[in-house]
This record gives sequence, structure tokens and C-alpha cells, in this order.
Amino acid sequence: MADVKRICLLPGDGIGPEIAAEAVKLLEAVGEQEGVTFELTEALLGGIAIDETGSPLPDETLAAAHAADAVLLAAIGGPKWDTTDPARPRPEQGLLGIRKALGLYANLRPVRIFEPLRDASTLKPEFLEGVDMLIVRELTGGLYFGESAREADVDGASADGSAGMLAYDTMVYTEAEIERIARVAFDAARKRRGRVHSVDKANVLESSRLWREVVHRLHAAEYSDVELLDQLVDNTAMQLVRMPAQFDVIVTENMFGDILSDEASMLTGSLGMLASASLGDGTALYEPSHGSAPDIAGQGIANPLAMLLSVELMLRYSFGMDAAADRLAAAIEATLAEGWRTRDIADAWTLPQRTVGTSAMGDLVVERLRAPR
Ligand code: NAD
Repeated sequence: MADVKRICLLPGDGIGPEIAAEAVKLLEAVGEQEGVTFELTEALLGGIAIDETGSPLPDETLAAAHAADAVLLAAIGGPKWDTTDPARPRPEQGLLGIRKALGLYANLRPVRIFEPLRDASTLKPEFLEGVDMLIVRELTGGLYFGESAREADVDGASADGSAGMLAYDTMVYTEAEIERIARVAFDAARKRRGRVHSVDKANVLESSRLWREVVHRLHAAEYSDVELLDQLVDNTAMQLVRMPAQFDVIVTENMFGDILSDEASMLTGSLGMLASASLGDGTALYEPSHGSAPDIAGQGIANPLAMLLSVELMLRYSFGMDAAADRLAAAIEATLAEGWRTRDIADAWTLPQRTVGTSAMGDLVVERLRAPR
């Protein structure tokens, strides 16, 4: 029986449809090579969904996402839909809505240095030797989802000592939430270099002490083959720019992960090269880390590589096609090594005739993927 993988494709807004078209081309080539049929269902999300249906996340889109084996999203948003009127729909509600509906509790962001782009980083090239890490961020708990509120007329809360306002946010984690994200990190480490840094603030926060306890308990019971190291979050922030090659997998709380993954992503020097995976217990979602780049939309110059790297993650995490994912990564590396660049990653050494548009870059990667090895 034919091997069929169902993908719900959400091209979205701005450069979204342009880079989504390259992903479609690539999936055709991978499918042919691997003997797999990728069955694509396109659906509306974001601004285009607001224009066509009035909702940023129409019911049909949600149904298509639930019915698929994986969701591949390009990008959403743009100035056309920017509004401060809380009553009007916004494209971002579509993205948050679909993440919530699919129960995506783990956000995975790989950070690796493509050798040919090493000079694009703000760090000295010698510090980037061997950098290849995966940040696993807890996505549905912690400080962003705990109880938060403001209280008025609190005695002594204003600057002059009179009654004033206070506000609070709380960091809450259950054992179950910690265990399931730690499991994602340990499983990922087993397929990589076998090391996990669990990042917390256990010297100050009670939720971090529980985090540490649960991570160690799980490690001892089921993952003692993986190396586990604890690190305080302030130290990690420093180590990421001091010696980033020490990290393999980092697992951490929602807000810590939000901050650290942005810091780490800049080691690569380019937004156009970063992909992410959001996993839950059902259908997972894959997307580039960048937005819809309205400033260059429609010009055919967007970098499709983060989108193609999102396909790589999908092959790995949703379809267990690791060998195909490795071949895809190698095809991208080879394209870059030959000097091909889209405008955003071109530098003073790029030959003008090797600066290409979105579609040509997609073709080059597909050609290298098909090339006999
Ligand atoms: P952005 O990531 O869209 O763009 C930032 C800069 O990077 C721009 O100069 C853009 O041209 C460039 N850039 C981004 N991706 C590129 C690519 N693939 N190739 C070449 N250049 C690229 O961020 P922004 O300008 O802050 O946001 C624009 C819109 O995107 C907003 O509506 C925002 O809400 C939305 N957004 C969506 C997502 C998402 O879909 N997940 C994420 C972030 C922002």
C-alpha cells in the first residue's frame, strides 16, 4: 500500500505563499525519492482568512489541521490587518488559536551554524566551531499562563507611600507538565549527541526546584544513558555567547525559553535560516521563525530556506524520515557552499550572478537533493 502523509499547508500572508510554493516543490522531490506521497491540503490562516471568512482561524482550517498528520505554516500578518481595536480580528489570533487547539506544549528550535554563513554571525567565527543545539521550550505553562492580575488601592504601593497599584504574574508548573517536556528533551538528545542542559532558577524559585526534582527523577528512572546537567538561567544566558558549542539540548520553562531561544538564534546571524517545530500529543506544527516580511512581499526575493528547514523538521519529528531529513540538510548546505545566496544572506563576497530569488533558490536545493551521490 502506498505510504501517504497528509499535510495541512497554511501559506498565510506576505511572503508566506512565495516560500510555501518552494516547500511544495521540495516535498514533491522528497516524495519521489522516498516513495512517499505527500497529500497537501491548503487552508486559510491569518490575514487572508480574515479577508475571506471574517475569522483568522476558520473552522474548516481547524478541521483540516486536526485531520492532517502535520501542519506546515509559512507566515501570517501584515500592516493591512494591524489594529488597536480589540473588537476587530487580528492575524496573530489565528496562530495562537491553532497552537492552543492542537495542544502544542513543546517548542523546538534548532540552532546550527551553516559553515558557509559563519561570517554572518556577530560572534567571532572561532567561537562558532561545532555549534549545533536544540532548544526545547515548554510552551503552554509557566509564567505566561499562571494567574496574573492588578490590584488597586493597595496600602503603600505608590511611590510616595500612599495607596497605589500592584500587579503580579505567577509561575506555575505541575509535575506532569515538567515530565512531558523533559521527556521530549531526553528523547531528542538520544537522537543527537546525548546531552541535556536543564535550565532553571532553582536557587530562587520554588517552581524551578520542582522542575529540577522531576527532571532528575525521570532521568534516573528512564534516561540514565543521557548526560544531564543543571544550569541556572542567568549562567546559560552568559554561556550561550561565551561557549555555545557546549550545548546539545537545552530544556527550559516557557519564558526562560522565549528569551534564550531568541538569544541563541542570533548566533546564526540570519532570521531567514531558522525553523521551529511545535509538538503536542497529536498533530505537530512546523514554521519558519521569521514573519511575513511585508516589506519584500510579492517581489520574489524572500529567502525560502527557513521554510525548507521547517520541512526538514517535519520529516524528522512527524514522519520519522531521518535519512531524508539529513539529505535535505546536506542539499541546503551544498547550495550555500557553492555560493548561492538570496539577498538577505548575501555579503560583500557574494558574486552578483549567485544572488538569486525565492524560486531559483528553491530549484537549486531541489537539484542538489536529486543529484546522484
Ligand atoms: P519579519 O520577520 O516579517 O521581518 C523582519 C525583517 O526580516 C524584514 O526586513 C524582512 O524583510 C526580513 N525577513 C524576514 N523573513 C525573511 C525572509 N524569509 N527572507 C528575507 N528577508 C526576510 O518581522 P516583522 O517585520 O516584525 O513582522 C512582519 C509581520 O509578520 C507582522 O505582521 C508580524 O505580526 C508578523 N509575524 C508573523 C510571525 C509568524 O507568522 N509566525 C512571526 C513574526 C512576525
